[in-house]
Amino acid sequence: MEIKITRPQGTEDVTPKQIYKWHTVERIARETAESFGFHETRIPTFENTNLFLRSVGETTDVVQKEMYTVTAKETQFTLRPEGTAGTIRSMLQNGLLNDALPQKVFYILSCFRHERPQKGRLREFHQFGVEMAGSQGPASDAEIISLAKTILDRAGLQNIALNINSIGCPVCRAEYHKALKAYFEPKKEELCETCQTRLEKNPMRILDCKSPICAGIAKDAPVILDYLCDDCRTHFEKLQEYLKALHIDYSINPKIVRGLDYYTKTVFEFITTDIGAQGTVCGGGRYDGLIEQMGGKPTPAMGFAMGLERLIMTMEQQGCAFEEPKGCDLYIAPMDESAVPTTMQLGQQLRVSGYQVEYDVMQRGLKAQMKYANKIGAAFVMVLGENELQDKKAKLKNMETGEQIEIALDETFEDKFDDIAVQYMFHDIVEDFEKECQ
Ligand code: ATP
Ligand code: MG
Repeated sequence: MEIKITRPQGTEDVTPKQIYKWHTVERIARETAESFGFHETRIPTFENTNLFLRSVGETTDVVQKEMYTVTAKETQFTLRPEGTAGTIRSMLQNGLLNDALPQKVFYILSCFRHERPQKGRLREFHQFGVEMAGSQGPASDAEIISLAKTILDRAGLQNIALNINSIGCPVCRAEYHKALKAYFEPKKEELCETCQTRLEKNPMRILDCKSPICAGIAKDAPVILDYLCDDCRTHFEKLQEYLKALHIDYSINPKIVRGLDYYTKTVFEFITTDIGAQGTVCGGGRYDGLIEQMGGKPTPAMGFAMGLERLIMTMEQQGCAFEEPKGCDLYIAPMDESAVPTTMQLGQQLRVSGYQVEYDVMQRGLKAQMKYANKIGAAFVMVLGENELQDKKAKLKNMETGEQIEIALDETFEDKFDDIAVQYMFHDIVEDFEKECQ
C-alpha cells in the first residue's frame, strides 16, 4: 500500500498501542505536581509572535531559527516553541498574580520548533512544565528542582545527573559580559556567523552554541560563578544547602546557560547518557525579570520543562515500568440477531458501573467472535442464544481458566458479575504476589 500523504518530518504519531506509556508519565507528572500544590493550566497553541520575541529573546536559537510563524490577516502568530511565555502571559491577563502568592501552575503541552529532526529532537514535541511565580528565596528553587527529581524518580529513572549553575542577575551579568567580550573578541573571526553577532548583543549566548568550533573556543571562557554578586552567591549557596538537606545529588556545571534569554540566578538540567546526544530530559531555571518585562509588577519566578518524548525514551531504554492499559472485562457474543437487544442492555448496564464491555457489532458468527474476544484479551466471555434468553441464564466463561460460572440474566446480573469480577481480580493479585515471593 502506498500512503499518499505522510506525516511531516519531525512529527510523531502515538498509536493506541503506545498511548499507555504517555498516560503513565502524564499521570506521574500530574500527581507529583499536585502533591506539591501545583494546579494545571491550559494556554493557546499559538500566540502573538511578539510574545516570544520579547520573552524568549531575539538572540536565542529558538527565536532566530526555530519558530513557526504565520501571518494571518496581517497579524503575525507563532506556534508556541515553549510553555513559559504563554503561561506567564496567561497569569498576567487573568490577574492570577493578584491572588495569593506564590502562584504554582503546571502544564502538559505540545511545542513546535523548526530543528533538524533526529533521535530525541522533533519539530513537534511535548513538554510537562511548571512555573512558580512570586517567590524569590532559594527554598523555591529547591522546591522546583525537587519536584522535577520526584517525577524522574517516580518514573523509575536511574543514572540521571542533575547539573546546576547560577547565571547571576543583571548586575553581575554586566561584569561577566565584559569579561566574555574580552575573551572572545580576539577569536571573533573563528566563531560562527551567528555567534559573531551574539558577541555584540548577548555574548553569553555563545556558550550555548551547538557548533563544535564555537564550543571548542568557549571551553576556556571565563565562568559566571567567578562574577556573581553577593546576593546571587548567597542564593546559590543556600540552594545547595537545601538540595543537600533533600538528599538530591548535584554537580555544579558553570557552562550551563540554557537556551532562553529570560533566565537569572539558578539554572539546572537533568541529563542522561542513555538516549544518545539529546540527553537533556529536563531543563529549568529562575527568571526574575520576565514578568516585569512582560508588563507585570516586578515578580520573581522559577520553572522547568521536561521533554516527554525524551523521558519516555529514557524509561524504555532503562526498562522502567509503564502501567498496562485496562483490558476488556467482558465480551458478550450474541448467537444471532434476536439476542442483540439483550446483549446491548446488559453491556450498557455494566459499562455504566465502570466495566469495559464489548460485544459484536459486525454480525459475525460465534467462531469469529470468540477469536476476536481472544485477541482483545477479554477476561470473561458470555454467549447469548435462544436458550439463554428463554431460561434467563447464561454462562460466564473465565478465559484464563476455562471455568464456566452460571449467571442469571435478571436484576441480580450486575451484582453477581461484580462478585465474580472482584474474585477474579483478587485471584490476579494473589497470583502476582505469589510470583513475587518465589
Ligand atoms: P536542547 O539543548 O536539547 O536543544 P533546549 O535547551 O532547547 O534543549 P528547553 O527549551 O529548555 O530545551 O526545553 C526543555 C526540554 O524540552 C528539553 O530539556 C528537552 O527535554 C525538551 N526539548 C527541547 N527541544 C526539543 C525537541 N526539539 N524535541 C524534543 N524535545 C525537546
Ligand atoms: Mg534547543
